Amino acid sequence: MTDTAVEPEEQITDEVHDDPSGPDRIPHFIDGQRRQGAGETAPVFNPALGTPVSQVPLAGADEVGEAIAAASAAFPAWRDLSIAKRQSIMFRFRELIVSRKDELAAIVTREHGKVHSDALGEIARGIEVVELATAFPLLTKGEYSENASTGVDVYSLRQPLGVVGIISPFNFPAMIPLWFAPVALAAGNAVVIKPSEKDPSASLFIAELFQEAGLPDGVLNVVHGSKEAVDTLLTHPEVQAISFVGSTPIAEYVYETGSKHGKRVQALGGAKNHMLVLPDADLDVTADAAVNAGFGSAGERCMAISVVVAIDSIADELAAKIKEKMAGIRTGDGTRDNDMGPLITGQHRDKVAGYIQTAADDGASLVVDGRDPEVDGDPNGFWLKPTLIDNVPTDSAAYKEEIFGPVLSIVRVSSYEEGLELINSNPYGNGTAIFTNDGGAARRFQNEVQVGMVGINVPIPVPVGYHSFGGWKRSIFGQGKAYGKHAFEFYTREKVVTSRWLDPSHGGLNLGFPQHD
Ligand code: NAD
Repeated sequence: MTDTAVEPEEQITDEVHDDPSGPDRIPHFIDGQRRQGAGETAPVFNPALGTPVSQVPLAGADEVGEAIAAASAAFPAWRDLSIAKRQSIMFRFRELIVSRKDELAAIVTREHGKVHSDALGEIARGIEVVELATAFPLLTKGEYSENASTGVDVYSLRQPLGVVGIISPFNFPAMIPLWFAPVALAAGNAVVIKPSEKDPSASLFIAELFQEAGLPDGVLNVVHGSKEAVDTLLTHPEVQAISFVGSTPIAEYVYETGSKHGKRVQALGGAKNHMLVLPDADLDVTADAAVNAGFGSAGERCMAISVVVAIDSIADELAAKIKEKMAGIRTGDGTRDNDMGPLITGQHRDKVAGYIQTAADDGASLVVDGRDPEVDGDPNGFWLKPTLIDNVPTDSAAYKEEIFGPVLSIVRVSSYEEGLELINSNPYGNGTAIFTNDGGAARRFQNEVQVGMVGINVPIPVPVGYHSFGGWKRSIFGQGKAYGKHAFEFYTREKVVTSRWLDPSHGGLNLGFPQHD
């Protein structure tokens, strides 16, 4: 989704209908039970076939309220469960998800379309966060100062918030719930996940694995839905915090609405990631990196490279190498031996294809045009093959907006300074990369670039689980980043206790402001 094209209310455009008699209906998961949704449903497609494979219920305020009530009721006992017991549930969950990752990957491929190896990749990155979450006793413990004043001790506690809402996008249906839920749960919170209605089943699978790992009923709930479900989470008085990932207009809306209703909100938004290539870079390695980072997961990654910024002197050679390497990408059904799957919906595919035309109309050169139906998959799938556009004008919508598809643009610049200025003037600040063999230039870039996650000869610099994920500027709203030690701060509140155990020397009348002695 792009930053400028739509109002929040217009975002959800998939067909909605009242007929529950389609193929499988995906249940909610409330208080440890699968629950059929009561009202409207929306189709969930297999994007490689272009046909609905199930119906997802769109919860109204009542159903979301039930999930919040279940979480609220389960919270006190979960919060008070010993650290040792909570930790053993996390370890057990980690064992279960590792042993069943192929099943989860198959669910991701079926509803999202990404190829099986890529689905396994997102699960592996999610498991990193589960592993981080097992370390919660170390990361949530407080501090203690003995004798801050004579006979007075001061110590801090980190306590869970209560009910946390997690709202996730379509592009990482397993990884993004796993960025948040394990940390929120380990810290002692109860959780309601509202997954993307486009590929909702991975969240259900994860919630049921947590139940199998011993998580008490009600501590983790999944409700499906769209705007009404999200709005209920954002405004419900029992919800204390929201972790959101999605497009920038919705992230901003979620941040403003949730904050207005007194919630702690972290809202990660869209991106336009640039890769600056200096003349001394190894152009073969750089071309491989651009192709992998531009077209992996059909470009539907918030850390995908969408713009290669090439210094003039090497731009022709680099463009030729990228083109050559793109010829080897096999586009097709993700259950077969392909490199790149379909896009998430037919509507999104058409929108991405529209940007290709816009770029051409605005004077860019179409080096490789992916609007070609020859793929290894069903003709009705939502296909668009890798596309390379050179000399993209920076005032074209194809440059300015997030495309979120398999379209790699090249913008040529005359110097490092011009490339840096281009990157820094972009409203997004999620990820970026520099390709060079000059350590001094790389160090300067790391210092000067206005972007939250930076790769030096690494095209998709998604931080490991024990660091934190989050961009700058219009790629994030609110303070908290995903995972890493920041996440434990986000999901807990600090309480500071000043304590003394009275003895006779403390007696006597003294109305003065307390001072240390
Ligand atoms: P989206 O904003 O359309 O949807 C995200 C979530 O918001 C979904 O759960 C959806 O149901 C809900 N939603 C949609 N419209 C809404 C509305 N009007 N009111 C309330 N809730 C609404 O995003 P998407 O298309 O699912 O995901 C792709 C976007 O997510 C891209 O912009 C991508 O860059 C971004 N993304 C960012 C990161 C990051 O870490 N910064 C990671 C992954 C994806």
